[in-house]
Amino acid sequence: MSKILYISSEAFPLIKTGGLADVAGSLPVALLKQSQDMRLLLPAYPEVLNKITRSKKLSAKTYYNMPVEIIETRLPGSNVIVWLVDCPALFDRPGGPYSNSHGQAWHDNALRFAVFCYVAVDIALNQLQLNWQPDVVHCNDWQSGLVPALLSLHTERPATIFTVHNLAYQGLFNHQTFIHLHLPDELWQINGLEFYGQLSFIKGGLVYADKITTVSPSYAHEILSPEFGYGLDGLLNNRSEHLSGILNGIDEKHWNPGTDKYLKQKYNRHSLAKKPRNKTQLQEELSLPVDASLAMIGMVSRLVEQKGLDIILQSLATLITMPVQLVILGTGETHYEIQLTEWAQQHPDRLKVIIGYNEALAHKIEAASDLYLMPSTFEPCGLNQLYSLRYGNLPIVTPVGGLADTVIDASEKNIKNKTANGFVLEQQSATALLNSVQRALALFQKPEVWRQLQVNAMRGDFSWQTSAGRYIALYQQALSPNC
Ligand code: ADP
Repeated sequence: MSKILYISSEAFPLIKTGGLADVAGSLPVALLKQSQDMRLLLPAYPEVLNKITRSKKLSAKTYYNMPVEIIETRLPGSNVIVWLVDCPALFDRPGGPYSNSHGQAWHDNALRFAVFCYVAVDIALNQLQLNWQPDVVHCNDWQSGLVPALLSLHTERPATIFTVHNLAYQGLFNHQTFIHLHLPDELWQINGLEFYGQLSFIKGGLVYADKITTVSPSYAHEILSPEFGYGLDGLLNNRSEHLSGILNGIDEKHWNPGTDKYLKQKYNRHSLAKKPRNKTQLQEELSLPVDASLAMIGMVSRLVEQKGLDIILQSLATLITMPVQLVILGTGETHYEIQLTEWAQQHPDRLKVIIGYNEALAHKIEAASDLYLMPSTFEPCGLNQLYSLRYGNLPIVTPVGGLADTVIDASEKNIKNKTANGFVLEQQSATALLNSVQRALALFQKPEVWRQLQVNAMRGDFSWQTSAGRYIALYQQALSPNC
């Protein structure tokens, strides 16, 4: 058993903007089940404080002249101990964890997450009288990137792991910020936190962590190339012997069509005949024509370039002439929201666009849809294709990252050997997308083949158990003296 401090800037169900929250809300639970002694460290945003029921104050200290308290609670629905970093000056404000309600990044994000990191470092070095010192500190994304860097300055320290959930988000700030934060001078170097004259939080993890992971084996490989490396491929190549990819699992309790609390009609792979009832209900709810013969294509996503919005928009004119209904739920860049909404207004029978964040609707879309659209330009792991597989909703994906690792194309050969579970584009283009949709629609007309594809998808094992075991093995490696 090891003591693991798991650091994340979001964790479901307390606070969520994307996939990181899903991972941080379920991997620590899986690790606890495998006898690891877990603490999850999270900022005390107002949404988090509103959701917790029982809590106690553990410790207090001042950082940059701001009082900070550590509050202990539990991750709802589990026994995982959560330590909240309560610094009202930095975290008690309306809006999101990283940006205000207009989508603008908080002006003081560097300070907010520097404090978060310094608290983590104090816990790691047992300097907050918490009576618990981790063997391993597991950091996630740029918000915790300073932790391995700051810990590297100590000889007696826990092992450090840094997981990249998305290399595109790096936590870049100007050099002045480095000075204002009084970060140790020796960290300002090219083989340190400096990135072309800027302060890079993510480099703190990539340069200094004992082990680096990403959330799928393919993405771990891809980020070594300039195309996916965002300027960090050189550094990652230098550290490649410490880099590996561990595929995310999913929370199988929360994403289970057999028990899903948001579904009126539950189903599993042995009762697939019940699934279409979900489509009828959603068609009624969203005022779409109720028609079982149309293939419903769902999408629940951040509306950003990464998610393939450009090729989707290029395809729409043709897509809406096909026997399909598209249902898109998401928020993101305004120009995508506007374009999609305009298309939906012009073609209300074919396309429904719901701008917003809606957990219940996300589940209903997964259950109602026949196909799921995820033609990402890159995808570190992707969770929605995994939810779709579990809900017998066949993903249409590009061959990148975690999508390539989890979706098996419905080629003739794969259909025959019963491994096919979705549709993989040859490349990321509108033409390839339309070809795949056409291929999918041809198979949708063959109920027996379709049923088999759904069964193949639904019997996939995406539980956390295997991946948690891989993390434990990695922790052991990081703890070994010759790491
Ligand atoms: P990313 O982390 O890049 O956003 P993932 O597929 O890894 O993409 O995870 C996205 C998570 O966020 C999924 O759980 C998805 O269901 C959820 N999600 C994204 N947008 C919305 C939305 N508008 N409403 C509800 N859930 C959403």
